[in-house]
Amino acid sequence: MKKILLLSGLTALAVACATNPLTGRKSLQLVSNAEILPSSFQQYQEVLASSKIITGTEQAKEVQTVGQRIAAAADTYYQTIGKASVLNGYEWQFVLIDDSKTVNAWCMPGGKVAVYSGIMPVCKDANGLAVVLGHEISHALAGHGAEKISRTYAAEMGGQLLGGMINNAALQQTVQQYYPVASGITLLRYDRKQETDADITGLYLMAMAGYDPREAPKFWERMIESTEGSSTPEFLSTHPDPQNRIAALNAALPKALEYYNASKYRTGAPAAIPSTTAGSTITTTNNATTNNNTTKSATTQQSSTNKSYVY
Ligand SMILES: [Zn+2]
Repeated sequence: MKKILLLSGLTALAVACATNPLTGRKSLQLVSNAEILPSSFQQYQEVLASSKIITGTEQAKEVQTVGQRIAAAADTYYQTIGKASVLNGYEWQFVLIDDSKTVNAWCMPGGKVAVYSGIMPVCKDANGLAVVLGHEISHALAGHGAEKISRTYAAEMGGQLLGGMINNAALQQTVQQYYPVASGITLLRYDRKQETDADITGLYLMAMAGYDPREAPKFWERMIESTEGSSTPEFLSTHPDPQNRIAALNAALPKALEYYNASKYRTGAPAAIPSTTAGSTITTTNNATTNNNTTKSATTQQSSTNKSYVY
């Protein structure tokens, strides 16, 4: 009997794996939206109740507009690829919290987003805000929180989990351990691979929503400048080396610009798509401008790059 339970547990583990369709990165997902969202929504309400929410200002409206547009673009994308279930139970909400000292933003599972007013000067405009929101929304859609919870839960529950016995109380405790507390400090620390995954996914999502992805590297330059001589803001401290992330974003730009040019939300002129640079793992479709001898492979959107983010 024990052997059978162990075997079924292992089978469950083997299949409890999700793939980010935009990057190809795989992650352990032992918890579903249905299991995780109630806690997430409850914690979000607690944050709102203990924070000063800005409403009615231009900045507050911009947070709504940019957030909703990226959410709509993500919705359309997941529907198009037949993975609308990723968004099951989502209730998008975007708030601007009055806290000029906090240079941060986050998105909890289920689409509950908070932007702190301290990050708005670094965003500068709607494109900069789209970089931040695209990144944070990507953490949720790629299930990075659920992945972290799954890892912790798997480690804590060990044998019980392998026996297929999900202990709901323990799960809720793990969820609560991670998510934002009222002070605006997110206890959840994503790891570097998750951060890179969110950067690239966010770049594609902002482009699908018609925001210029060429602004993403510029946003991170501003973020670095804004932190010089001061303590590192939380938004940056948990993220990869800024120069590495800028290089990774630049490498992903050709593909992002294809999404941008195809976006129904785009108001600017179509962008010229740069050729992939030598050594870049990004492949582009055949409408890219050629300015060097790099061989481009005309492929579908699921490029070979995606493997870079699989581990
Ligand atoms: Zn992040």
